[in-house]
Order: sequence, then C-alpha cells, then structure tokens
Amino acid sequence: MKKNKILIVDDIEVNRMILAELFKDDYDVIEAENGLVAFDIISKDYEDIALLIVDIVMPVMNGFELLDILSKNVLYSNIVKIVISGADDEENKRKAIKYGASDLIVKPFEPYEIRNRIKNLMTNLETEKLREENNKLREYFKIRSKFENFIDKIPAGVALCEIGKDIKDGLRVIYANDYLYNEFGFFKDNNDTYVKQNNTSIVKGDLDNIIKCSIFDKESSETVVDKFRIINQDGTYSWTMVSGKKIEQTDNSAIYFAVFMDITKNIVYENELIHRLEYDELTDIYNKELFYKKTQEMLINNLNINYVVVCLDVEKFKLINDLYGLEEGDKILKTIAKCIKLNMNSEKSVFGRLYADHFALCFEKFDGYLDKLVYLTKNCFANYPIDLNVIVKLGFYEVENHTITVNKMCDRANLAIDSIKGNYKKIYAFYQENLRNELIEEQEIVNEMYKALKNEQFNVYYQPKCNLITGEVIGAEALVRWNHPKKGILTPNKFIKIFEKSGFITNMDEFVWESVCRQLRKWLDSGYKIVPISVNISRIDIYNKNLCNTVASVLRKYSIPADLLHIEITETAYTENPKQLIEIIRKLKKIGIIIEMDDFGDGYSSLNMLSEVPVDILKLDLKFLNPTNKKDSNKNIIKSIIYMANELNLEVIAEGIEHSDQIKYLLNLGCNIGQGYFFSKPVEPYEFEKLL
Ligand code: C2E
Ligand code: MG
Ligand code: MG
Repeated sequence: MKKNKILIVDDIEVNRMILAELFKDDYDVIEAENGLVAFDIISKDYEDIALLIVDIVMPVMNGFELLDILSKNVLYSNIVKIVISGADDEENKRKAIKYGASDLIVKPFEPYEIRNRIKNLMTNLETEKLREENNKLREYFKIRSKFENFIDKIPAGVALCEIGKDIKDGLRVIYANDYLYNEFGFFKDNNDTYVKQNNTSIVKGDLDNIIKCSIFDKESSETVVDKFRIINQDGTYSWTMVSGKKIEQTDNSAIYFAVFMDITKNIVYENELIHRLEYDELTDIYNKELFYKKTQEMLINNLNINYVVVCLDVEKFKLINDLYGLEEGDKILKTIAKCIKLNMNSEKSVFGRLYADHFALCFEKFDGYLDKLVYLTKNCFANYPIDLNVIVKLGFYEVENHTITVNKMCDRANLAIDSIKGNYKKIYAFYQENLRNELIEEQEIVNEMYKALKNEQFNVYYQPKCNLITGEVIGAEALVRWNHPKKGILTPNKFIKIFEKSGFITNMDEFVWESVCRQLRKWLDSGYKIVPISVNISRIDIYNKNLCNTVASVLRKYSIPADLLHIEITETAYTENPKQLIEIIRKLKKIGIIIEMDDFGDGYSSLNMLSEVPVDILKLDLKFLNPTNKKDSNKNIIKSIIYMANELNLEVIAEGIEHSDQIKYLLNLGCNIGQGYFFSKPVEPYEFEKLL
C-alpha cells in the first residue's frame, strides 16, 4: 500500500535524522533544510504529504514564515502541521496555533514520546475527520431519502435515463419515480432498472422523433421539450410531455434528466378549442375564417390550376325556420354540409359555412362541374324525410386572378346569387362583368339623385287594391317612379336599394308622403269617392327619430284624416331592428295610421313576429309562392299564413295577382283582398281617378 508522506524541515541534519528514523516505518520521509526548500516540495507534492514537522529557527525562511505562507492556501489545509521549538514558551505555542499547527514539540527530542504523541495526534485527527465525513454522509442520505420521497409523490414522472445514439438502442431508465412506473407504463426489467422502449406502449414514431432530435445535435445545456403519445388499453391516446436535460454524453449515448407529464387533458382541451375556432359548430365543416384561409393557401400554392368559387344560399331560409322551427332549419343546414362533404374531393377543394344559410366552396375546375353541382343541390334533399321544397341557389365565380382575396371572390359569387333572388326559374348564376357594371351604374345614380329630387323627376303612381269578390277598389298603394331624362321611367328596383345604402331614401320617402297627401287633398276637394292610400317606408326610415313627427306634420299640413294614410313596412325592418320597429309602429298607430306588413313571406318573414308587432294588415307576397307550383308545401305555407292572420284578426292582402285562377285559389284559402296586374298596373294619378 502506498504510504503517506512526512516532510521534516530542520536546518540541523542530526535532528532530521532522528525524526526520520522515528517515522520511516509509517511514512515515506522527505527532508528539507529550510522553509523555502520545504515550500517548494509542498507546492508540488501537497496531495500526498500528510504530516509536516517544522523547526522554528532556520536560515533563509524560518518555520513561522513557512506556516504563514501555507495558511494562506486551502490546498495545504489538509496537511497536519507540527512545530519544533527550542523552548517550551507560551509565545511560540500561541504563534504555532495561530498559523494552523496542531502541536508543538520541544527540543531536545524524547524520540518515543514524540512518536507516540504524533501517532495519537494523527489517529485523533483521522477519527475526527471520519466522524465529520460520516455526519455529512448521514445528512446527505437523510436529504436524499426526503427528496426521493418527494419525487415519488409529485404528479409527474421523473427519470434519469440513458438514450442510445442509435435509435435501436432505445431508452434505458436508470432511475424512475413511482409515478413514472405507475402512470406511464414503464417497466422495471430483471435488473430492476431497465426499460426497453419496445416494452412500453408508446406510439412508435413519437419517441423515436424525440430521441432523434434530442441528443446529439443539441447543446447539453439546452432543455429539450417534446411530446409523445402512449396507447391506452382501450386504444385511445394519452399525451405525455417530456422535458429533458442532457447531463452527460459519451460517444454512444447520453444521460438525460427527464420529467414526464400527462398533458392529455390539455391537449384534448386545446384541440377542442382550435376545432371550435376553426370549424362551424353546427355543421362541423370549416367556418368562414378557415375557409378563407385554406382557400387562399390552395390558390396561392397552385397558380396554374383553374379554380371555381361557388356560394350557396338557401332561398327563404328564414321562412323555413319560422314555419318548421329552428331545429328543422338546423337539419337543413346539416344536410347541405353533409352533401358537400360527401361530394367534394377534399384534396382539390375547400368548403365551409360562411354564416347562417350561406355556404361556399372552392374547387379545381373540371368538365361538367356546373351540371354536377346543379344536380347535387337539386338532389340534396331527395331523401329528406319531409317535403320542404328547399331551394338552394348557386352563385359561381370562375377564378381568374388567384391573388384577389377569397372574401372578394365570395362577394362576386354572392352578387351572382343576388341577381337571381326571387327568380324561380333560375337556381344558379355566374358572376359576370355586367354585375360590376351595375356597380358603376349604382355610382351614377348616387351622383344624380339629389338633383333628380330637386328637379321633380320623381313621380308617384297608384296601384289599386281590390275586393277579390266584387272587384271594387278599396285602396291603393303609392309607388314611386323616377322619370329619368335619359333612361326613361325607372321603377324602384333600379334605385331603392341604392338610396337605402346612402340614406337618401329618407328624403325621397318624405317627398312621396307629401305628394300623396297633396293628391289626397286634391281628390277630397274635387269630391272623389276617396280610398285610403298606402305609402311605403323603408327599413332605413325606422332609424329616423323624426319619422312620426314628419308624418303627422304632413297630415296636418294638408288636413288629411290619419286613417286615409296607410303605411307599409317591409318585414326586413323587423328582422334588423325589432325593438325600434315595434316602438315606431305603436307611435304611428297612436296618431291613427293603419300599418301594413309588406312583402310578408319574402325571405325573412316570421309568423312569430305577427304576435309581437302590432300591424293591422298583412300583405302576402305571392311572387315567392308561385301558385302554379303544385307542391303541397307551398300551398301549406299560404294556408297557414292566412289561417294565422285570421286568428290574429289581421286583414290579408295578396300581392302580385296576375291571373283569375289565382283569385279563386285565394278566395278558397280565405283571402278576400288583392293587388296586382290582373286589376291594374301602378298608374299615374289621372288614370287612377278613372278607377275611382
Ligand atoms: P312593394 O311595396 O311590394 O310594391 C309592390 C310591387 O309589386 C310594385 O313594384 C308593383 O309594381 C309590383 N306589382 C304589383 N302587382 C304586380 C303583379 O301582378 N305582378 C308583378 N310581377 N308585380 C306586381 P314597384 O312599383 O316596382 O316597387 C317595388 C318595390 O319598391 C316596392 O315593393 C317597394 O318595396 C319599393 N317602393 C316603391 N315605392 C317606394 C317608395 O315610395 N318608398 C319606399 N321606401 N319604397 C318604395
Ligand atoms: Mg309596398
Ligand atoms: Mg309588397
């Protein structure tokens, strides 16, 4: 066994010899004749030198000077230092202890006494050292067991593991806490430490990926965070997040400290959240945002492919909702979504629900796509349990420029749909430049409208309302015409919407009310048998706080009894702003005006609404209920509206009567008043006088 070294420092050789002789059995003895030589030896050999015996009085560097230098460096603190003194004086003893010496030997030497003293000293010191070390170890084990106890209880897997450079080597768990064993299906193998990757039910590629990307390319200080899936016994996945930090690396493997956490709940929640953000809740296809995004991506990534954007819109969807209930409406939307899903190639197309009953698709153009889509939409409800006569309208936009926004493309497709709304013969339309020309025309109208009003280009025509049995004129509707200097007589469909957009409609309507009252005054003064005249107010007028005052003051101005003026309000006004509409109707009725609900059934009508809105008369729009259509559902709709109206004590006027057979049909259903070309077109006042 290798012996410890003893360094004897004394300038007198005899003294060194005596001491060397004493210790040679227990130590390798080194000698030095002064402090400087000794320091040189110590600085090279301090790890092996256990004992230093040093004389005080020496040339070059004395004992205290040497001790002083040594005391300043911790490297030398393990060496036991003993001082040789010529006299047993207190001063030397104090100094020796101050410089870190453990004992002081007085000359002349008593060899055996010295040997025993030093032996005892060394043994004591060693025992002391051992005790100290044991105490430390005990503390350490105490802390470690506390730590392990803690680690086993935390709700996460904690492991020390080794990952082989070659994926085949898999993963070796050196230490794992209870949680990891219990929750993550890691197994201890025969050696009580091993877990082979293929023994666990981790989804194969997942862990490989982590292993691949984790070890050798990364800086050791980096904490790698990743997730993998564990296959549960029922076939579902649990998600585990692992964050690992490399603490050691050899050529073939790396040791990681890793924490595993079950994040299944978070992932499920996160996925749900993402799904909810991106998918339409009702139909489970893309919502508007995702449809726009995915479509844009598809278009940008395939610049040489021709695409078509199609928008779908259910005709009279609101009416279906009202007649058959929201649930039935939802079913219809789901049926459409299902039909799209089934028939669209998911790789070459994107589809989604934009809002309400509006859907959109974008697909790679193929031969016969129009026929296919028309066929599909017509047959979408072929197997539907009840006959609802759902009509889905299609607006097509063939993409020419892939970089315009999808939003704009859908606008164009919708513009195409708008052009065939209410037209029963057409279920599809293509976006064409002329629709854009319409926009230009719209601008022209906006530019001219104020001047037209000032120059009295607007005229009021009158269309009679007749008793269906006797044919007697019982009222009339005032309808505006624009006598345009270049374009001739324009009907309202050319300009009302545009006026509504700009708010100019309020000016025009006020002009019409005033014209009607002036006319009524004329007829009253000339002794005509007078009938009530209805004027239309726009949904925009509803927002006008002065509406009632204006109407009242016009009536006053021409001294017209309020019951001679009816006001027609379209039911779209109700859908947009029910509260205000109800308030306004109440006010108008207070001054004695009779309220007619116009175009009932034209898209957004609601039978429920009738119980809320205090109207007096219902104008049933026949245009949407083509009576030549033999479908029962159509007949049922009219029937139930008339029935409901009678229940609510509302008079029903049928609009758009063109043929005598329609009259029979209506009379059968209990409707006795009508308006339409069959009786008369809207005519100028002098012609209307003749009808009176
Ligand atoms: P509306 O109030 O529903 O008026 C009935 C419309 O149906 C009138 O069209 C009328 O000419 C038309 N019509 C009447 N009988 C028949 C028929 O047998 N067959 C067909 N196919 N159509 C018939 P017009 O005059 O073009 O007015 C269209 C719409 O413009 C009106 O619908 C009304 O909403 C609006 N409007 C007209 N004048 C005014 C007005 O002074 N102010 C406001 N705000 N809107 C007006
Ligand atoms: Mg009207
Ligand atoms: Mg109408």
